[in-house]
Amino acid sequence: MYIVRFYSIFCNRVGIYSAYTRAGTTWGLGGTCVNVGCIPKKLYHQAASLGKAMEHAKRYGWNVNENITHDWDILRSAVIDYIKSLNWGHRVQLKQKLNAYLLRIL
Ligand SMILES: Cc1cc2nc3c(=O)[nH]c(=O)nc-3n(C[C@H](O)[C@H](O)[C@H](O)COP(=O)(O)OP(=O)(O)OC[C@H]3O[C@@H](n4cnc5c(N)ncnc54)[C@H](O)[C@@H]3O)c2cc1C
Repeated sequence: MYIVRFYSIFCNRVGIYSAYTRAGTTWGLGGTCVNVGCIPKKLYHQAASLGKAMEHAKRYGWNVNENITHDWDILRSAVIDYIKSLNWGHRVQLKQKLNAYLLRIL
């Protein structure tokens, strides 16, 4: 329930859309999994799990503040930043690999 809500809000608010560029990619480097699939899903899943765990924590002896709130903007920014870091990492690796390839064949 939490996960579906987080994910649908994420897609709506970020304005994810599908558009082919000249480079032929829909989402950017990393494809579906990194940009709109496994990775963001897992991060939102983790956020939801933490929320649920905090609900249960009291019964396990934790002194949890009653006024636990959630800041959607912080979560969304963190997920977007993480995906951007992966995109950047892929870009760097591709450049390094391309350089190595060109040096080998030239
Ligand atoms: C919400 C969601 C959650 C998911 N969670 C998981 C998970 O937890 N675990 C898991 O294993 N899988 C998960 N998946 C599935 C996983 O994302 C896909 O199986 C995986 O991304 C497929 O990889 P791919 O390389 O085949 O395709 P993609 O990653 O989709 O990459 C294909 C690329 O090819 C480009 N392309 C398409 N047509 C052309 C063309 N004609 N010319 C040039 N480029 C083109 C596209 O733009 C795209 O960038 C999830 C998917 C979604 C949507």
